[in-house]
Amino acid sequence: MNDVIVVGLGPAGSTAAYRLASMGYKVVALDKESFPRYKSCGGCVSTKIDAIKDFDFSHLIESTVSGAIFSFKVHNSLDILSDKPLGYNVRRDLFDTFLVEKAREAGAKILEERRVKDFISTPNSVTVITDTGEAFKGKFLVCADGSIGGVARQHFGFDSKESAISLTSEVPYDASMVEDMMGKLYIDFGSVPHGYAWIFPKKKYLSVGVAGDARYLKGRKLQDCFEAFTRDHRVLKDFDIEERKGCTIPFFYKGMPPVTKGRVLAVGDAAHMVDPFLGEGIYFAIKSAQVAAEAVEGCLSKKTNTLSHYNDWVRNDIAREFIALGKLSKLIFNYPRLWFGLIERNPDIMLRYFDVIRGGTQAEEFYKWVFSKVKKKPWKVLRGLMGGRAKGQM
Ligand SMILES: Cc1cc2nc3c(=O)[nH]c(=O)nc-3n(C[C@H](O)[C@H](O)[C@H](O)COP(=O)(O)OP(=O)(O)OC[C@H]3O[C@@H](n4cnc5c(N)ncnc54)[C@H](O)[C@@H]3O)c2cc1C
Repeated sequence: MNDVIVVGLGPAGSTAAYRLASMGYKVVALDKESFPRYKSCGGCVSTKIDAIKDFDFSHLIESTVSGAIFSFKVHNSLDILSDKPLGYNVRRDLFDTFLVEKAREAGAKILEERRVKDFISTPNSVTVITDTGEAFKGKFLVCADGSIGGVARQHFGFDSKESAISLTSEVPYDASMVEDMMGKLYIDFGSVPHGYAWIFPKKKYLSVGVAGDARYLKGRKLQDCFEAFTRDHRVLKDFDIEERKGCTIPFFYKGMPPVTKGRVLAVGDAAHMVDPFLGEGIYFAIKSAQVAAEAVEGCLSKKTNTLSHYNDWVRNDIAREFIALGKLSKLIFNYPRLWFGLIERNPDIMLRYFDVIRGGTQAEEFYKWVFSKVKKKPWKVLRGLMGGRAKGQM
């Protein structure tokens, strides 16, 4: 009998495995892939991570970003730079492998190329079954199988429709072509319905992508948005971008089921721990896994007989932030042109948002502040924002 089984070894699973193995518990952690493996992602870890990280990963930082270039439908580019960093661009294959190795060093048994097909949960244990025909029994199961794993989704009933869909590509480039983009993120509003397009520069390639809520595509294909963005962008138009990967981004949503059930916990993307505005999830994967590990530790050490510590954190702490970011995303993505005009005239809005990314300002506080600015717009615009009547006219 193991103490804990962890399914999935992205940042969430590795963190849970590392934390629990470091406390001396017997941990088995499984992933269907072997590491290093590709993960479709912009790879920008917000500087919030500095307050919670278990390790120094500075050797993996490809560039530190202190601002962004914003545009609307690839035009009118707007540079907004702050005097403090807001994120670290990393390569997910290397970052995730580093975290897996830390979990292994802490004593977790890491088993790669094991796809979990199913599990059986009883009042006293959980048994996980893999496609290799093996079975692993533990006192607790941490589901960290990401957005497409399906293990957590099946058990908890999270709604897969509460997700964005995305297409990404890694484009090798010559640094001289994008000198003005170094140290910045490039974010384009308006080229994807209810979403955005981006370029996050790494040392050897540009992480390029588009993501949007599938419910708003209304017959448009995401593929077409990707093609239009890369065809019209001044740098990307010179590249022949053939290779692209699709992935879903599961957002936190109001009324989600609890993230623990019996002896099973869901963390990271598997539990929709993703900011519904920009789709930031790496920090939240790590943070949710740390809190979930504390809850499991409480039970294993018999300090408590409930995992409610983790559910309470989701309900009382993170839900408020995510719900505010959900409202912000509606405001911005329903009216991207209005939003772009607003930040053109008031770049301080984005500077303040950078502080939300850094964890200095609460998303709820930011939303209230920005909404009060929007309310000062002419009444027609406001009516549109409230009731959708002016939709599409801004
Ligand atoms: C296009 C895109 C861009 C993004 N950009 C950013 C960004 O710039 N910054 C940011 O913070 N976040 C970003 N995110 C979100 C971020 O990628 C995720 O939130 C983060 O990877 C979540 O980590 P995780 O450990 O929960 O899941 P994952 O990293 O997805 O890891 C899940 C692991 O589970 C394994 N697995 C799945 N099913 C099984 C199974 N049945 N059995 C065994 N193993 C299984 C997978 O192989 C994988 O290794 C982006 C997401 C997408 C899709």
